[in-house]
Amino acid sequence: MEKREISHPLLGKIIVTYNERARKIIMRARFDAIYVTLPPYTPDKELERILAKYGERLKLDQEKIPYERIDRNYRIETEHFALHLEETKAPGITINGKNGAYTLLYGPGTDFCSKETQQTLRRGITAAVQHRAKEILPPRLLQLSGQHNLHCKKITVRNTSTHWGSCSSSGTISLSIKLALLPQHLIDYVILHELCHTVEMNHSPRFWALLDRLCGTGSKRLRAELKEQKITVI
Ligand SMILES: [Zn+2]
Repeated sequence: MEKREISHPLLGKIIVTYNERARKIIMRARFDAIYVTLPPYTPDKELERILAKYGERLKLDQEKIPYERIDRNYRIETEHFALHLEETKAPGITINGKNGAYTLLYGPGTDFCSKETQQTLRRGITAAVQHRAKEILPPRLLQLSGQHNLHCKKITVRNTSTHWGSCSSSGTISLSIKLALLPQHLIDYVILHELCHTVEMNHSPRFWALLDRLCGTGSKRLRAELKEQKITVI
């Protein structure tokens, strides 16, 4: 999957992803950028055409997305990840923590209304989520892999925006750092889903039957629950 970032004069940041599995063009406005997914080898002219056609509407959508402002009282508390803010004497913004409990430290006089501060805080949160994701996701994948005798060649944990996970034909499973913010049963669903792709590189009835068996419960229900998850902080 190839990715590039465009700085568009009118539309701002655009993240373009070329995905072998994309059958059509998918566009989505998020608070931080406009995300476009294209089938591989889509000509730039085609990208320009769709941006000219839909760009204005996407920009309007983007402006309507509530930007969750991070302030002193901001906190995240999920099954595997907790974060809160604390004032310290040292200037600037730093982060520390372990075992899934993180503290964002901010210096005196930090202006929470400034865009730069918000960006720095968000980067800090992303770094903490990434740290936690690398701590918990690969061991769980290896555990489930051993348990079900389904093996991948390589594991990567990345800050992906469009997918919770993916499995390449060469046997690499990529997991999104955002999984660290989900409850265990949904993390397991995504991992099992990708492990099933190591033997069934498609979404055929055989694939779903295998996944249903491994989940021990209807994978459809888990899939629906996963679809409802919205992570807007990173
Ligand atoms: Zn799949």
